[in-house]
Amino acid sequence: MSFMPFFGDQAGLAAHQLKGLQWTVRHAYEGSDFYRQRLHQAGAAPEDIQSLKDLQRLPFTTAEDLRVGYPFPLLSVPLTDVVRIHASSGTTGKRKVLAYTQKDIDDWAHMFARCYQMAGLTRADRVQIAVGYGVWTAGAGFQAGCERFGALALPVGPGNLEMQCQFLLDFQTTVICCTSSMALLLAEELTRRGLLGQVKLNKVIYGSERTSQAMRQRIAQGLGAELFDIPGLTELYGPGTGLECAAHAGIHYWADYYILEVLDPETLQPVEPGQTGEMVVTTLCKEAAPLIRYRTRDLTRLLPGDCACGNLLPRHDRILGRSDDMIKFRAVNIYPGQIDHVLSAGQGVGSEYQVILEHGEDGRDYMTVKVERAPEGRAGEDPALAAAIAKRVKDTILVSAKVEIVDYGSLPRSERKSQRVFDRRFA
Ligand code: ZN
Repeated sequence: MSFMPFFGDQAGLAAHQLKGLQWTVRHAYEGSDFYRQRLHQAGAAPEDIQSLKDLQRLPFTTAEDLRVGYPFPLLSVPLTDVVRIHASSGTTGKRKVLAYTQKDIDDWAHMFARCYQMAGLTRADRVQIAVGYGVWTAGAGFQAGCERFGALALPVGPGNLEMQCQFLLDFQTTVICCTSSMALLLAEELTRRGLLGQVKLNKVIYGSERTSQAMRQRIAQGLGAELFDIPGLTELYGPGTGLECAAHAGIHYWADYYILEVLDPETLQPVEPGQTGEMVVTTLCKEAAPLIRYRTRDLTRLLPGDCACGNLLPRHDRILGRSDDMIKFRAVNIYPGQIDHVLSAGQGVGSEYQVILEHGEDGRDYMTVKVERAPEGRAGEDPALAAAIAKRVKDTILVSAKVEIVDYGSLPRSERKSQRVFDRRFA
């Protein structure tokens, strides 16, 4: 069974998108006071949507709208039709809560099954799901998608390195789903115990944090596995709305379920093709909490052209950071993803780094980049390595940074998201 869509060509996809957009605007207008008011304010009515270009007439929705509408924001169906809620974790203030109808749950499982198909799994695969179960979307999404696809799910949950290693051995897991930090810990732990030869792992599906090229290489080499980046946003069902393909040339996204715009976060106009901007999403068949031009704050760019893997679904680059994470340093806007890029572009460094911003006694701001030497690197070469990195930072991000090379393994690792930027300027 295939979970891929069949539209024939791009015109077929566009026709499908227009139908979905028309349905969504009508559905939200009729089902939600919030959306009806918002559309009225913008002077837009459902019958105005005659082509995909009319998307630009529609108003934006934001995370703030979710907070205001708590506990059932954007709800466009009667509550009796809601079969589940999920919420995002770890944000300040009220959680973002999203409601799902049974059809929403089914659509999400279908999208997620498509991810496993794109990663090249078969029903013989054994999938260790080492992500959070609970009110957030990760565990439920990976689990339902795996069962829909027909592979064997091992719902282990996050953390618990001991049990993860045990299950990898005992169940001969072939695919693990986790954060990249967890994958790196596993690679290091299996190496330390000399167990690498006894595990059958060949794929890692990782998500929920930005991951540098250097870190990907360490994980891929450490585990001897192929890596697939999976994007996910609670507001947009959860993880599984796209996947990195086997050509490893960006993330194919499920354009038959949502429209992706990439806009300049300041002007809210489309960026030039291929330029980085904020992802703005509009769902095409989401019932309980449809999204109309929802500002995700995630930064990425669209990748033009056909993919070497042959799949015709469009692609975006990996998530390069969040527009909220932007650091202002000496009047330059820096996204943490840019620092990953700089460090990944060279040889000799490990995957872990920290960026420290401080306010000097002379009244100026200073940046220190601490980066781990590669395990095979020699301390004697540190000064040359530091100078080379400082030059690349200067050339590409246009700021001066002091670079310190530290021993491999000396920066903290975490099973969840690692904090890498320490802004001490206002402490
Ligand atoms: Zn591809």
